Amino acid sequence: MTAGTDVDPAYAFTPATLPYGVAPSPRFDGPRVMTRLGGRAIDLAALADGGALPAGPWRAATLNPFLESGPEQWRAVRAALQAVLTDETLETAVDAAAYRIDEVTMLLPVAVGDYVDFYASEHHASNVGRLLRPGQPPLLPNWHHLPVGYHGRSGTVVVSGTPVCRPRGQLGPDLFGPTQRLDVEVEVGFVVGSASALGEPVALDDFADHVFGLVLVNDWSARDIQAWEYQPLGPFLGKSFATSISPWVVPLDALAGSRRPAGSCSAELLPYLRERESEPWGLDLSLSLTINGEVLTRPPFASMFWSPAQMLAHLTVNGASVRAGDLFASGTVSGPGADEVGSLLELHRGETFLDDGDEVVISGWARGADGTAISIGDVRGVVLPND
Ligand code: CA
Repeated sequence: MTAGTDVDPAYAFTPATLPYGVAPSPRFDGPRVMTRLGGRAIDLAALADGGALPAGPWRAATLNPFLESGPEQWRAVRAALQAVLTDETLETAVDAAAYRIDEVTMLLPVAVGDYVDFYASEHHASNVGRLLRPGQPPLLPNWHHLPVGYHGRSGTVVVSGTPVCRPRGQLGPDLFGPTQRLDVEVEVGFVVGSASALGEPVALDDFADHVFGLVLVNDWSARDIQAWEYQPLGPFLGKSFATSISPWVVPLDALAGSRRPAGSCSAELLPYLRERESEPWGLDLSLSLTINGEVLTRPPFASMFWSPAQMLAHLTVNGASVRAGDLFASGTVSGPGADEVGSLLELHRGETFLDDGDEVVISGWARGADGTAISIGDVRGVVLPND
């Protein structure tokens, strides 16, 4: 919590945040692009109709047309929105475009293109290494040289609030049924806005020209399916059944005061992964994992080894291009403390997992430069039975 306020900073949504989401308008036909201010969603199409905001792709089912408009337009719209939403003479126009947050049902904000999941927390990778390969070095030899990742399934990325059915699969040799080891992974996802060209890697310094913003991610994981299937090609059906994301995409521009050197800043790295100390892309985000109303852990994103700029630089170093709507997630965020881990596998050392009916909530906020909280909101989901 921030001193001097009783509002949870994950949900304060002051004019310093101004995220973007999409929801059907309760008053008009069709979905609209919205921003969030406090406990209200503000319809950008209605603001534009009233002349308070320039015209734009605000009557849209996803943010993709806005993402494609590029970084100059993102910044112009953010500046215009900040001016409108803090101008007292425009209060009536803003009220006419606003809905109570409980009046709107948020949609998946982005048509997700390619989806990649990294493994960028040294604490998480070490914890899992110790559990899976006891008696051996917890990290494999490549881990400190590159951000390890895999391509996931974009078609099963779902918006917060979507129930998650316990998946069935092979749980071991001659054993088939609903997973008995359903887990969560607390992650942060980065949404690509501006495409890159095939054959042209995205340099660290060009990160903010391509990545629009971030969301919270729950990478639901069936540990028994995963453990049986993953060798030698990595995660497959143990993770592809659902990946939940938060509905509000927080622009990178809101996080300027939250940038910190990532853990890799003191490592010996190839030049394409070497972040300049003056331009770090590690982020100081405070996350929390709550199950059935009880806060279980508080994973600190500032403890990550690899920054999202390093992830994108590595993702494209072979010439692979990215497109508007592509999503890459950080991997499970775990800090050094026992109450800072981002999965039940780590928290309960593989002994307790999710029950049917459990509600999982991952929430987060960022520490801005002057102590201002930048709200990220939450991603939630309830586990449905499958028998
Ligand atoms: Ca993951």
